[in-house]
Amino acid sequence: MSSPPDTDTLDREMQRLVTQGVLSRDEAAALLDATRSGQSRSEALPSGMDDKDRVKEQAARDKRHWVRTTRVCNQRCTFCLDSMNQDGTRIETAALKTYIALGRRLGRERLILSGGEATVHPEFLELVRYGREVGYDWIQVVTNGMMFSYKGFARAAARAGLNEATVSMHGHTAQLHDKLTGTPSAFVTGLQGIRNLQATGQVVVNIDIVLNKQNYRVLPEMLAFWFGHGIREFDLLHLVPFGRGFDEHRASLFFDLNDAVPYFRRAFAWADQPGVYLWTNRMPVTYLEGFERLIQEPHKLQSEFDGGRHNFEGWLRTGVKPDCWGERCDYCFLEGPCRATLLPYRERLLQGEFASVRVDSRLAWPGDAAQRAFRSQRPTRLRVTAPDATTATETLKDLAFPLARRDVALADGADPTALLGQADRFVVSTLAQAHAYLLGAPALPADVEIEVALTRELAGWLLDHPEVCRARGHRLIAALQTHEFRSGVVDHDPDPQMLQRLAQAGVRLKAVPRCIAGAEVEPADRPHLDAALLDGAGHLDLDRFVHHYIVHEYRVKSLRCVRCAEVDHCDGLHINYLREHGFGVMMPQDADGRPLSDATSFETLTEALRETNARRSREDLKRLVGRHRPEARAQDDAPEV
Ligand code: SF4
Ligand code: SF4
Repeated sequence: MSSPPDTDTLDREMQRLVTQGVLSRDEAAALLDATRSGQSRSEALPSGMDDKDRVKEQAARDKRHWVRTTRVCNQRCTFCLDSMNQDGTRIETAALKTYIALGRRLGRERLILSGGEATVHPEFLELVRYGREVGYDWIQVVTNGMMFSYKGFARAAARAGLNEATVSMHGHTAQLHDKLTGTPSAFVTGLQGIRNLQATGQVVVNIDIVLNKQNYRVLPEMLAFWFGHGIREFDLLHLVPFGRGFDEHRASLFFDLNDAVPYFRRAFAWADQPGVYLWTNRMPVTYLEGFERLIQEPHKLQSEFDGGRHNFEGWLRTGVKPDCWGERCDYCFLEGPCRATLLPYRERLLQGEFASVRVDSRLAWPGDAAQRAFRSQRPTRLRVTAPDATTATETLKDLAFPLARRDVALADGADPTALLGQADRFVVSTLAQAHAYLLGAPALPADVEIEVALTRELAGWLLDHPEVCRARGHRLIAALQTHEFRSGVVDHDPDPQMLQRLAQAGVRLKAVPRCIAGAEVEPADRPHLDAALLDGAGHLDLDRFVHHYIVHEYRVKSLRCVRCAEVDHCDGLHINYLREHGFGVMMPQDADGRPLSDATSFETLTEALRETNARRSREDLKRLVGRHRPEARAQDDAPEV
């Protein structure tokens, strides 16, 4: 593999590829940003994850290179989300090869050829061969399978180096699949294509299914049917409110998730068997209670934002809302991070309304405008991270907010006592600091708040020092941390039982639902403005915001929480803690803090949800249980097929 291009060269190459129609401006900008930030996801996976979970997290970390070969398709799917981009053109082979080679130079290992329909490109086989030549480890095509119904084509693709075909099959009968794809014979040719690919013995075949009102009732039968045809991996795609599906077929495709839940749960339970891999794509998280391992890897949000980058960046810079803004938002998987979070973040920033702000004194301001935007806030909490007490003092003096609370997080070995009188709360994040701050001679005074950034190790240390917990009382705060990956939870976090023991020892828990703590808790610092979120012009940087959302803001509650007395004040759990420990740890309570008698049943809760839906407004429900609301029950007609 040749060395990666510098960013100026890359920028020029991208512009040329945009002109040649290989990339949209959004895709080029996303690729450039990802390359500049050099994000690495290559740390080892922890041993505490089982095989299916390890496979999934590893897949999420794969360095993929998506290449669209055409803007034309030989089917006319009713739910096509890309229909507005299909202008009937294919992209020149030379330009595609340039882009394929560029992916390798950027360190991408998996080549994914898509469209339109990738295989209708007349030089599809040559593109596969070229991908192999430039050194991709794995070459995949996303296809409707029709072209592979020609035995010779399937064999030639395998010989050229194709490793995997993801075939879109949305039904298990010709009647259903042909209707949904708007294409007579789509089913028989797709099925034949799958058989031909399998017969090569070299190509792994898996299936994409777009869930919709026409097929959700037969999902269990569909999975069993394709399993009978040797398929072991399925990707279930939730409808998105774009393209033909929303504009032309909304009434016949969009459905109420509450109606679909029993069918989905049967299918999910079936897929728990060994060797079957089921993925969900954009499925609202709250409907996966009991099947948390099916929750989509949060990083997929990044590619969702990449797809509309010009929209979101324009919004952050100018305030012009995305062109998809409007009734689509109610059906959109991005509603949580986008309309419900990004918009309020921008408004708060402009109005100076962030109550909680953070700054790392080691980082330079990207520009004066960023400093001005940060300083124009009127926070009640400031957190300063600094290498030593002197730097922390300078930063605290420099940021003279009229504050209620100043938190300081120092590096190991720095002396916190030099900050007494300046800081209200000290953050402990290592064992050495726990010893120094809580046991040292002298320890920090008892009237100073100490927030322990919890790890399993630190939680164990606190439990081993009950006298410290007793003496500090509610001035000792133990804050559950959040992680970018689920493996961070597996590696570092205390489990719910350990959290309960800490609360019983008298420690005040932070960022933990009250039902887990069994005692009063402190909410997470959210929303908070981290200075590092700002770009040189003082706007929120889109990529950093998405990362911030995943790490800090992506929290969920169970559907059952609508009946909990705490629901208005509770943030729920961070997505990755929830993926590890499940919705079951959330136990709705009555006003006296006692668990509700039927708190654990998902089946009764979906019934309750229907009642709740009937009683509450849609906005109210979203506010209560999170942003991924149940689908609107807009159209109630029966399936047409
Ligand atoms: S939530 Fe955001 S991405 Fe989704 S439709 Fe609305 S504006 Fe567009
Ligand atoms: S709202 Fe949900 S997560 Fe929060 S305390 Fe109640 S049951 Fe627990």
